[in-house]
Amino acid sequence: MRIINTAEEMQRTALALRAAGRKIGLVPTMGFLHAGHASLLDVCRPECDVLAVSIFVNPTQFGPNEDLDKYPRDFEHDCELCEKHGADIVFAPTPETIYAPDHSTWVVEEVLSKPLCGRTRPIHFRGVATVVTKLFNLTQAQVAVFGRKDAQQALIIERMVRDLNMPIRIIVAPLVRDEDKVALSSRNRYLSAGEREAARAISRSLLAAENALVVGGAAAAAGEAEKVRAAISAAGGTVDYVEALDADTLSGVTAGSRRVLLAAAAWFGATRLIDNIMVEYK
Ligand code: AMP
Repeated sequence: MRIINTAEEMQRTALALRAAGRKIGLVPTMGFLHAGHASLLDVCRPECDVLAVSIFVNPTQFGPNEDLDKYPRDFEHDCELCEKHGADIVFAPTPETIYAPDHSTWVVEEVLSKPLCGRTRPIHFRGVATVVTKLFNLTQAQVAVFGRKDAQQALIIERMVRDLNMPIRIIVAPLVRDEDKVALSSRNRYLSAGEREAARAISRSLLAAENALVVGGAAAAAGEAEKVRAAISAAGGTVDYVEALDADTLSGVTAGSRRVLLAAAAWFGATRLIDNIMVEYK
């Protein structure tokens, strides 16, 4: 497994691999890898000849008062996990090799970025779309895997690839949960034991709502969102949002909605967690 630290070396390597006819797969991450990330590597591995994993805590997707400086890092463990799950390249650039000091070009998705996380994190998805575009250009990947954990992010990337005719296939892999059903997240590391226990209310209530939406149909969505909101508050969490939306448009659920996304973001102590369930209707 090769470790690459500069944008220039990554692109030069990728172009040579492409010229040799190799198919490159990419799993973009911010590091501090866990079994959720590993599952993305496992999905990507059979889809490509060369599996690249990027590890980059992207400064432009963090707001001024967010956790950029304290975002957890463990590069050695990340490399072990990547090696174990078949990565050929770990691309771990410094911010300086990714962003010129006078960087001034952005990729902005203007509809799906507005609700849910977009409300309280207004520059977040601009940073995500821009860095993902850069990672696609640098790695020359023909396939990339994203997790359903970040359902809104995955939808925005799919939309961006379609709208800008990017020659890459996007695969969205299922959300991986811990034994206690809490969604695996690098940020779980911030939680105290008590907060972790309380945070189980998010997945517990979402999974109950998932059952209700399977049985009751899309019409049950608003009522189920309200129950999730109440359960999180009762556990001591501060709700950022709990919303049921049409999963293709991220606007209101209608009788014609093919998929419903019930997404939640809540604070437990100083930690903001997100989780979701998606129900598909035939
Ligand atoms: P992050 O390192 O948090 O930026 O996440 C990198 C990628 O891993 C994103 O596509 C996430 O959606 C995905 N991911 C993170 N946690 C999980 C999880 N618990 N299950 C599935 N995918 C995940």
